[in-house]
Amino acid sequence: MIVVLKSGTPSEEIKRISNEFDSRKITPEKSAGHHKVVIGLVGDTAEIDLRQILNLSSFIEQVLRVDKPFKRASKEFRYGEPSEVVVATPNEPVTFGQNHPVVIVAGPCSVENEEMILETARVVKAAGAQFLRGGAYKPRTSPYAFQGHGESALGLLALAREATGLGIITEVMDTADLEKVASVADVLQIGARNMQSFSLLQKVGATGKPVLLKRGPAATIEEWLMAAEYILAADNPNVILCERGIRTFDWQYTRNTLDLTAIPVLRTLTHLPIMVDPSHGTGRAEYVPAMSIAAIAAGADSLMIEVHPNPTEALSDGPQSLTLEQYQELIQEIAVISKAVGRWSQTGCVAKIV
Ligand code: PEP
Ligand code: MN
Repeated sequence: MIVVLKSGTPSEEIKRISNEFDSRKITPEKSAGHHKVVIGLVGDTAEIDLRQILNLSSFIEQVLRVDKPFKRASKEFRYGEPSEVVVATPNEPVTFGQNHPVVIVAGPCSVENEEMILETARVVKAAGAQFLRGGAYKPRTSPYAFQGHGESALGLLALAREATGLGIITEVMDTADLEKVASVADVLQIGARNMQSFSLLQKVGATGKPVLLKRGPAATIEEWLMAAEYILAADNPNVILCERGIRTFDWQYTRNTLDLTAIPVLRTLTHLPIMVDPSHGTGRAEYVPAMSIAAIAAGADSLMIEVHPNPTEALSDGPQSLTLEQYQELIQEIAVISKAVGRWSQTGCVAKIV
């Protein structure tokens, strides 16, 4: 249930209204957007009469029920206003959100050594990325496959961050590594396979750091939003959703099926920013450019692209990784389509026309 307040409601009145609910075993959560202040009510609100709430204050404009199982993630919870996830990178704060330029995240699947991560970081930075991605802890199907270099790879990410000013996005697989990963990452990635590791979600949420939540390979959109709800319920509003392809019946020509329909669907359901990962979504470097520009045309707020100086030698995900040259070319195409939708930072962003 949400309580929409009239603009100019004094803060003491907002506090007074919120306190009314505290005593009813309902958690009131204030969300101040650019246009409205909304109090979201989470808990057992089924028995509450809407008129009873309206009578609490003359500053209450409207009371609405959220009929979805995801409450904090729902579009209604912010009264239709998109949320903005602001990440403080060494160079500048970068904002993920619907009315902001497209944010580009690029880098190798795994951090393999100092030379490759620094070279990749410098090239993607110069071409136009705001974040470097790279796994230190890798979720691999086979226990015999390369598992990532762990802590030493985190050190290399820190080095690349310092050398380039790029923000760092890297996966945390295990709560035991959370503190170490959080000390380097500007955004903590929850991998697709861990989308429903609920205790991991709660603990990652509790760090307060921005979280990139990848869609599980077989997760419905509702399951994905319920997973986001775990992080939001840990009092962390900084969640970015990442569509990275789902498992369908065709495994022969693509690794996954990139569900671009998820973008407009999510727009009707949630205020959270949306990233698309065409690398895992297709599994093949040759399909990454088409899906990148399609994702932006469909309204994605951010792209995550795997790039490797020498994909044929990569320790993981080589077939889907672009070379540095291919990445530079792709950025030109991304710039064209992003400018066309008014969302390219290089020339200043024109707020998206809705
Ligand atoms: C990755 O980003 O390298 C990764 C393992 O992604 P996903 O969890 O989407 O498979
Ligand atoms: Mn990968």
